[in-house]
Amino acid sequence: MYLNVAEIESAITSLHGAHPETTEILTPPHTTHEGRTARLLRVGTRAADDADGILLLGGVHAREWVPPDALVSLAADLLEAHELGTGLGYGSSSFTAAQVAQVVENVNLFFYPCVNPDGRAFSQTASPMWRKNRRPAPAGHTGPSCVGVDLNRNFDFLWEFTTKFAPDADVHTSVDPCDEQTYRGPAAASEPETENVVWALENHPRIQCMVDVHSAVPVILHSWGSDQNQTTTPSDNFRNPELDGVRGRKDDGIGEFIPEQDLKIAVGLAERMSDAVRAVRGVDYGAEPAYGLYPTSGASDDYAYSRHFTDPAATKVFGYTIECGTSFQPAFGEAEQVIREVSAGLLALAVEAPHT
Ligand SMILES: [Zn+2]
Repeated sequence: MYLNVAEIESAITSLHGAHPETTEILTPPHTTHEGRTARLLRVGTRAADDADGILLLGGVHAREWVPPDALVSLAADLLEAHELGTGLGYGSSSFTAAQVAQVVENVNLFFYPCVNPDGRAFSQTASPMWRKNRRPAPAGHTGPSCVGVDLNRNFDFLWEFTTKFAPDADVHTSVDPCDEQTYRGPAAASEPETENVVWALENHPRIQCMVDVHSAVPVILHSWGSDQNQTTTPSDNFRNPELDGVRGRKDDGIGEFIPEQDLKIAVGLAERMSDAVRAVRGVDYGAEPAYGLYPTSGASDDYAYSRHFTDPAATKVFGYTIECGTSFQPAFGEAEQVIREVSAGLLALAVEAPHT
């Protein structure tokens, strides 16, 4: 059975209770529109500021039921294996006891399994295909679909897509509050759930990777999502107003700049995750730039990687999205297999990612 919102919270509480030396519970500062607080579980024996970190998000989209369960499951697996001094295996994807120890003792994993608890509660009790959060509908808008914001269009990265992108770029984002899928919200980072993710990054400057786990394609996405990658023209980037109105078109000679070394790291880690996933039961997620799916505005992965360009004092955070499995709410037996794939991929990242 899928965990409900209360069960995710109690799982965090009990994992911390069972492993007090290895975990810390973090409470994000902003309560949701319905007054909920969903917490983070940090797994790692070293203090938050004493080791490099990876932020793992789940449940941003309400109807994607597998990712929150996957994050809770991976945290439990890791803590148990570390305590027993054993390795971890998911199909043919295996990790030695030394690798488990290295992850728990030299990396901090920030599990944030249920970013959008209002949405998950609504999806699990009232409207299974609900995607957005539960921001009340704005005045003058009626109808059930006018509630909520697509949190993965709400981050402060090229949020103003109507002027930032070419009109024909086919950005999958909407200005209409009644759009059931991709309403971007009234302002960039307007939503408490978005602000909580920003808080996690801002307050934990040792975080160097963020993975936003979604479903379902399946695919592993790395930077960028706004336009095709290019490594030769640094001035062609998301901050350049000269690209407003033309950004996002395919094969037009204009792309989003990513330094060659960063692209190499981004691709390398995405492929490492994909290899680990494939070894579980042979499913090929593949690894590609997020733009390969469709151009996005206000997405979490681009926001994470963009921060250090906008603010040189910010840590460089490699941003990824894993789209796991092939359906939003598979029968739980299949969900358990997808959970194993996600676990293997994320653990491979934790083993490989730079850390000191
Ligand atoms: Zn999603």
